[in-house]
This record gives sequence, structure tokens and C-alpha cells, in this order.
Amino acid sequence: MNPSLQSEPLRTALLIDGQLVAGEGAVESVLDPSDGSCLALVAEASTSQVQAAIAAAAQAFPTWARTTPQQRASRLLAIADCIEAQADRLARIEALNCGKPLHLARQDDLSACVDVFRFFAGAVRCQTGQLSGEYVPGYTSMVRRDPIGVVASIAPWNYPLMMAAWKLAPALAAGNTVVFKPSEHTPLSILALAPELAELLPAGVLNIVCGAGDGVGGQLVSDPRVRMVSLTGDIVTGQKVLQAAARTLKRTHLELGGKAPVIVCDDADIDAVVEGIRTYGYYNAGQDCTAACRIYAQAGIHDRLVEELGAAVASLRYASKRDEDNDLGPLISARQRDRVASFVQRALSQPHIERVTGAAAHSGPGFFYQPTLLAGCRQQDEIVQREVFGPVVTVTRFDEPGQALAWANESEYGLASSVWTRDLDKALQLAARLEYGCTWINSHFMLASEMPHGGLKRSGYGKDLSSDSLQDYSVVRHIMARQREVLN
Ligand code: NAD
Repeated sequence: MNPSLQSEPLRTALLIDGQLVAGEGAVESVLDPSDGSCLALVAEASTSQVQAAIAAAAQAFPTWARTTPQQRASRLLAIADCIEAQADRLARIEALNCGKPLHLARQDDLSACVDVFRFFAGAVRCQTGQLSGEYVPGYTSMVRRDPIGVVASIAPWNYPLMMAAWKLAPALAAGNTVVFKPSEHTPLSILALAPELAELLPAGVLNIVCGAGDGVGGQLVSDPRVRMVSLTGDIVTGQKVLQAAARTLKRTHLELGGKAPVIVCDDADIDAVVEGIRTYGYYNAGQDCTAACRIYAQAGIHDRLVEELGAAVASLRYASKRDEDNDLGPLISARQRDRVASFVQRALSQPHIERVTGAAAHSGPGFFYQPTLLAGCRQQDEIVQREVFGPVVTVTRFDEPGQALAWANESEYGLASSVWTRDLDKALQLAARLEYGCTWINSHFMLASEMPHGGLKRSGYGKDLSSDSLQDYSVVRHIMARQREVLN
């Protein structure tokens, strides 16, 4: 454990019906991925505690649903202020539990959390919709947008607090009550905030239960009182959640994996490409569903790109004791590191794939894997087709942009993509045809709270961020009033 990061005892209590309670289920060890040591023992919610959390959310719903947008916004703004005031403390816990560099957790994750709560506090007060009016003579129609009910929010481990913010802020703003389950690997930041959330929200509006996916997660998904499940996770988890949710016809909001294509044309600014991929192919050790991991490089720029990118990637820093010297951290677990290693090993067993840099686990403590660049990859290679979720980027050569477009779209994923060229017409035409929820031009990875984020195809559906997300967490209703003629 990095002693400079732990300045206080870690909180492990769950939040159920406004009370902080110790879990009564199995005890999980939560590890520090930078050295594998045990940070905390967190007891899962027992079956009856999950029941109690759902019951509390169901009971709190009618009152919370009837609060005004202004009232809910003021609670969200208070949560944002609280996170901002405690950003240093929360960033330290996030860095400890994920192994990510503290300066990046503080600068990126925590700022984003604050902004997301502030955005939804504003957005819920200025929603727009269809016009009321007489669409049938003698009847006035009005459209309402109302909350759905109890939402089960299930988060992954790559950005624990930010994923919580993405899920909680729109769900609560829209007037739903929530039972939130963090990843079993990374519960510590949301548990660190639980006492403050208990003060800032009425009892039962937000409940936090920890536990394994198929246990506590499965119980949440199958309970008939839960009306919507919001999951960010793996495709296979999404399929299981969808099957279980079908039994009670729940709404689902699924943000699943990604394998972002990066189309680099001959006329691209090579320095910008190298800098962009060095940063956004390896950010968060590549544990990012939008990571710039699948490069298609046109023949004229290909060789120079591989050479310059190889040198740039080899310069990425990790596993230093000095936080500010690190560009990336370890993988979340030994299992994830070994999974990444086995992908790379299988790739390198193919004679046409070339190791440019990296391709081995770090020899010291922790679950680090070397930033890796592989060239000579072909479209049908497993390493090009499947999500690695680690610091591994592949390069595939193409001749014509149409070929790169076809290869980019020939994927089961559809979350994020980018196009690099100085020709705006080409960029816009490629962007229009890419079957991805987001396409960046001469950039990658940038998000804005105002703009929708979410996938197509097996990357899932439903939008995070933006007013589109508020719509996903609410339901449209039609009120039709018959009029008695009282005026001539
Ligand atoms: P995961 O699917 O293993 O777990 C995600 C969450 O689902 C965890 O809380 C887990 O406990 C829970 N879970 C697992 N099985 C469950 C079940 N049967 N029922 C209910 N809940 C269950 O994913 P992960 O390993 O934590 O995260 C990595 C994955 O998440 C990657 O595939 C990544 O691409 C994806 N991801 C997607 C986005 C996006 O915006 N599309 C963002 C971040 C991560």
C-alpha cells in the first residue's frame, strides 16, 4: 500500500435507508493494484440487506418523485459542492483503490464528477418537449416527463466515482430513487462519500450496497420492485442482465465494451496523431471503453507513424514511487493483467505481427503491464477484433480510406472512433459513415457533460451525460383533458 495516499481509515459501511450499516454478507478483500496488498475488508450486503435497500428506495420514491426540479437541483448542487470540497481526499482513495496516478484522478476524475452533478442540476430545470394543445377537437393534450421508479445502478471498476456520478446524477435529477452497486474491486470511493450522501439526500433516495455481480447484482436485476437497471460493464454481463431483466420487463440502460478504431490518413498531422494516441491509447492503462486502441494507418504515413509512435509509447512512465512521474497505473487485478498478457502472447504467436514496444508484464510488484504497440496486425486477428482493456494498441495498414472505413465498421463494437486528416470534407464523410456513438476528428477521448455518450451495436444503448440521459431515466406520459364548452 502506498502510505502517502492513505491518510485516514477507509470507510466500509453500506448506505441503506439513510443509515450507515456494516455489510452482513461475505467479506471481500479490496486490493491496492499497485502492489497487490489488501487495503480493506468490505462485507457485502446480505440478501435481506439488498431487500431492505430496494424496499427503502421504493418507499422513498413517491415523495422524491413529487419534489420540484428546483428542489432536486439544490440537492445535486450540494453533492457537487461536497465532492469539490473533498476532492483531494476522494482522489487519494480513488488512486489507492485503482492504482491510477493521483494527479490524474484529482485533475480528471474528480473535476468530471463535480461537473456532472452541476450539469444535471441545471439540465433538469430546463427540459423541453412537445407542445400542449388540442390535437383532437374538444380535448387538450399535455405531455409530461416523469421518473420511472427504483433504478438499480451497477458500475464497473475503471472510473469508480465518475461512473457513479454518470449514473446517479441523471437518475436522481429525473426524480428516481436508486440502489447503487459499485464494482466489487473498487467500492472505496463511493463508500468514502456515503456518510455525506446520507446527510444530503432524504433517507432511501440513494442506497449503496456492495457485492459480487452474480450475487448482489443478480438480486437487484431480478427484483420486481426495481423498474430499471443501468449497467456499465462487459458485453457478456450486459447479455446476462438483459435476460434477467426480461423476466420482469424492466427498462435497461447498457453501456458495454468498445474497441475504438482510429483512422489515420496520409495527410494527418503526424505529431498530433502520435501525441493523441500516446495519451488516449494508454490513459488509465487502456482500461477505457473509448481507448484509441485500433489504429488503421494509410500506407503513406504508416511506417513513420509506427516508428514515431513506438518511441513515444516507450517513453510512457509507470510504477514510479513519485506520483507525478507516472502517466499510467497498473491493471485493476492480477487476473486482468494476465488476460492482457494472454491476448498479446496469442497475437505475437502469429508471424505477421511485430512487437514494436512493450509486450510483457512489469517485473516489479503490482499488476502493471508495459505499454505495448503491435504493428503488422490484420483485420481478422483476435487482437484487432476483441476488446483487450489494457495498455495495448495495434496498427493495421490500409491503402484507401474506404477500406479503413469498412474495417472500422466490421466490428461488434460501436462506441467511439476517430479520424485524423487535414481534409475536412474527408473527415466529415468518414464521420458520417462510421457506425459509432461518437467520432472525434483530429482528436480522441474528449467528453463534455452536455454531449451524449453511448454506443451502438454490442456496445449497448442508452446515453450517459447530456439531456439525452435525463430522457433515458424518465418516461413520457400523455395527459388528455376533455373540455366542457363554456365560452361562445
Ligand atoms: P463487468 O461486466 O465484469 O462488471 C460490471 C459490473 O457489473 C460490476 O459491478 C459487476 O459486479 C456487475 N455484474 C457482473 N455480473 C453481473 C450480473 N450477472 N448481474 C448483475 N451485475 C453483474 O465489467 P468490469 O470488468 O467491471 O468493467 C470492464 C468492462 O466495462 C469493459 O468491457 C468495458 O468496456 C466496460 N465499460 C464500458 C463503458 C461504456 O461507457 N460503454 C465504460 C466503462 C467500462
